[in-house]
Amino acid sequence: MTITLNETHDPARRSFVDSANLPDSDFPIQNLPFGVFRPPGQQPRVGVAIGDHIVDVAEAGAGFGGLAAEAARACRAPYLNYLMSLGPQAWSELRLALSRGLSAEYGGASVRSALVPMADVELLLPAAIPNFTDFFASVFHATNAGRMFRPDSPLMPNYKYVPVAYHSRASSIRPSGAAFKRPCGQRKPPNETVPNYGPSRNLDFELELGFYVGAPSELGRPVPIGKAAEHIFGFCLLNDWSARDVQAWEYQPLGPFLAKSFATTVSPWVVTAEALAPFHTAAFARPEGDPAPLPYLDDADDRAHGGLDISLEVYMATESMRRAGSAPLRVTQTSTAWLYWTVAQMLAHHTSNGCNLAVGDLMGTGTISGPEKANLGSLLELTLRGTEPLVMPNGEKRGFIEDGDEIIFRGFCAKPGFARLGFGECRAVVLPAA
Ligand code: CA
Repeated sequence: MTITLNETHDPARRSFVDSANLPDSDFPIQNLPFGVFRPPGQQPRVGVAIGDHIVDVAEAGAGFGGLAAEAARACRAPYLNYLMSLGPQAWSELRLALSRGLSAEYGGASVRSALVPMADVELLLPAAIPNFTDFFASVFHATNAGRMFRPDSPLMPNYKYVPVAYHSRASSIRPSGAAFKRPCGQRKPPNETVPNYGPSRNLDFELELGFYVGAPSELGRPVPIGKAAEHIFGFCLLNDWSARDVQAWEYQPLGPFLAKSFATTVSPWVVTAEALAPFHTAAFARPEGDPAPLPYLDDADDRAHGGLDISLEVYMATESMRRAGSAPLRVTQTSTAWLYWTVAQMLAHHTSNGCNLAVGDLMGTGTISGPEKANLGSLLELTLRGTEPLVMPNGEKRGFIEDGDEIIFRGFCAKPGFARLGFGECRAVVLPAA
């Protein structure tokens, strides 16, 4: 990892924005995640979350100098792509200028006048996303899901060699809060001989960590694993909605297609790679007997620090729960520390054939399941394909997602000696099929 700790990670730093200093705030001054917001009646622009406010970065940049000022000017835009394309040095200098400008110690007049209450604005998709690739990096999920689709050979023989992925659709990615319609597709129940077409009966969520490529790479030139982290701008929560009945029928031999491409929801705030620097851990320890990664996927530094420890949770609220004002039910909690492959391995593998990375590309880790029943990242696993439904506090049962249900992801990092950082929320309501 090339990112080192600096004054922006100092847990003692406080902001003059009081809500950022509350112990349970997702957005303390040590976080400073980037997103895109639209004030009423105005053009969208890039902002940074601080407590319950947003800093309009281009406005704040009037008081910055050098590369930070240039980076702030790139934020007068409806997407993060212009800022991303300036590269890691610019991202870092802008973060430092914002951290100082928002601090109680220094404070900055240009930053003070650029604050907007978050409740007053609309949060949009943070980037123009050219490509979306979804990995399959949790060995626990791969084994659980494989067992249901292929009881005889749950884990394919390539799994421990190849960070498996498929190309999904960028066109149907929506920000948190955007409802979507239940997809229709071909379904073939096991007791029938031919498929029929209709609304999916087995709609599921997939709890994933997303990461955005900031720095592009050249076509024909693989990114070495030791350089992969420098290409990552930041991380988000990602729900890869999945129609399991459509998936079971269509996935062989080329993998998921229409079972996944109808909708993907991302959280609006992108937590930068630099903000997450304190939360790196050793990569997942491969059990004895597992093959070593091939040399292009192996790196001593990545083995020592390439893992990430981000706690993730899924909450569920049915329509009648929301009408009654009941709190959503937490249905699972897991951690990115259980991923078999690191993000650097995923990114290095992605470019290993010479395929280039584009500014704004989004990657998903795949469903993040842990070893225990309480740590499973999809309903497919939590309810054993619907056979053991979840029971809501009001007695309603859910094998899969029903119309009107809302799924909410939350995520945070916590570690002694550092400020707690949150990801905000990634939520959406499922509407009836068209
Ligand atoms: Ca997925």
